[in-house]
Amino acid sequence: MVLDQSRNRPYLQRQSFTAHTRALIYFDHNATHPLLPSARDAWLDATDRYIGNPSSPHRLGDRADRALSAAREELSTVLGCSAHEIVWTSGATEANNTAIAHLAATQAGVALVSAVEHPSVLAASRRYFSDRYELIPVSASGEIDLDWLKSAFERMEVGCVIIMAANNETGVIQPFPQVLQACRERKLPYLCDATQWVGRLSSERLGELPIVTGSAHKFGGPIGVGFLKCPYALRPLIVGGPQEEGRRAGTENVPGVLSMLAALRTCVEQTGQPHFLEERIRIRESFEAELKRLVTGVTIVGSGSQRLWNTSSVIMAPARDCRQRWVVKLDRLGFAVSTGSACSSGKEQASHVLQAMGLPNDEAGRALRFSAGINTTESEWQALLKGLCQAVNELT
Ligand code: PMP
Repeated sequence: MVLDQSRNRPYLQRQSFTAHTRALIYFDHNATHPLLPSARDAWLDATDRYIGNPSSPHRLGDRADRALSAAREELSTVLGCSAHEIVWTSGATEANNTAIAHLAATQAGVALVSAVEHPSVLAASRRYFSDRYELIPVSASGEIDLDWLKSAFERMEVGCVIIMAANNETGVIQPFPQVLQACRERKLPYLCDATQWVGRLSSERLGELPIVTGSAHKFGGPIGVGFLKCPYALRPLIVGGPQEEGRRAGTENVPGVLSMLAALRTCVEQTGQPHFLEERIRIRESFEAELKRLVTGVTIVGSGSQRLWNTSSVIMAPARDCRQRWVVKLDRLGFAVSTGSACSSGKEQASHVLQAMGLPNDEAGRALRFSAGINTTESEWQALLKGLCQAVNELT
């Protein structure tokens, strides 16, 4: 996908992804996936069509409310849960905070939280559980330690479990079906942050998990809208009006929700095409194999685990320059890439995810993350490979 780099462009022009100035090939979809055309159309259509407040008693309010209900039905069908379990939020940060505040207020015992969670989970756990949580260690390839988890169930009074579906920095997929099984046996609530999973892999069975969070802008919907799939009797984090059956106050973002559903529909359709996954994995694997062949000292993070098809996290060989310089260099060469999660880029501190995987700070400080979108092509991966080789020659 090629993005126009110029700022201050009219909103509609940005969506064409045509280059008005210098083109940038975008490999930062885990930070945010550019709005898909279907999502843009749905957003524009909804702002024209649903002008009422969904809580208003007149026909325009009712129309907006019915559109929200239809979207709730549609998402619950995609996830395989009941529509009553869906609460619209401003994104996954809010959804994670809400779920964690609810769990801390309603569950006795310790929360077991994976060490590689997104900062919105880790910070909320610190705030709401205070000293009532334990970090679940991960292996060198980034998967949570299931034996540790099982032994923790014996060793302590556990109140809930919090483990993501797929990691935003490395793409490593967690064994969440096994975690669900273990939690079911003990009747424990399980919160699964599926922000990087939804729209990339089949979400059909996510509804079996008691609590799930997701965010539109990770799969081509707009920024500022997401969802929480949760038990009906959720304590609200944001209080005020009676929206969302008292579980989240504030006027619902109707165009945002409809746009999110349009993006999800596109992703489900595209990722469900025959051979989509095999093909994308093949492209990513061949990029990684070539990178290792052409650039000495490269290691692939999490290569021993199942990973999202779109993510490649690599440790570059020791260089004089820090990883921010790699990102700047690659930007100059025409590629938007990341050093890790968007939240930690811009800071030079080593990623907690890579540290939890046992990487020394020096190595973690040389990590680069490339994350593709559903429309990223093989030739874009090949161009990235060439760009990296050029950057290596110029930087080392
Ligand atoms: N969880 C994960 C795994 C994420 O990758 C992100 C976004 N970086 C979030 C939560 C937060 O999502 P949002 O931007 O919607 O608040």
